[in-house]
Amino acid sequence: MDTISPEERSAVMRLVREKNTNPEMVVRRIVHSMGYRYRLHCRTLPGCPDLVFPSKKKVIFVHGCFWHRHKGCGRCRTPSSRQDYWIAKLEGNKKRDLKNQKKLLASGWSVLVIWECEIKDREGLSNRLREFLKNSVKSQSQA
Ligand SMILES: [Zn+2]
Repeated sequence: MDTISPEERSAVMRLVREKNTNPEMVVRRIVHSMGYRYRLHCRTLPGCPDLVFPSKKKVIFVHGCFWHRHKGCGRCRTPSSRQDYWIAKLEGNKKRDLKNQKKLLASGWSVLVIWECEIKDREGLSNRLREFLKNSVKSQSQA
């Protein structure tokens, strides 16, 4: 499958540009600072989620906008060469993501997807993570 030339590969890497911040590390640091414990890259779950909170039955995926086709996002561009190849590959990623998320939801997991481009807004990101991870059992029964 992986038959792209070095030139094509470097063109893609220019599109992806992920040198300065590793989004997953940012998410991990924030969650850790909130005092939550998690497991990493749980291969026994669909899609091998990046952060897993077994006792809460919650998982977090941190997705690169390019590889996972973030809809409407500026980073979600298709390389200009070999478009057929890339569209098939990237759409395949996207389909697989959705299928895995459905499987997780069906077996009672809560799923949060953090996109690479959302990492910049640390405050908004922290709020979303806090909101997602707090125990919702009580508030549901009170509602
Ligand atoms: Zn994005």
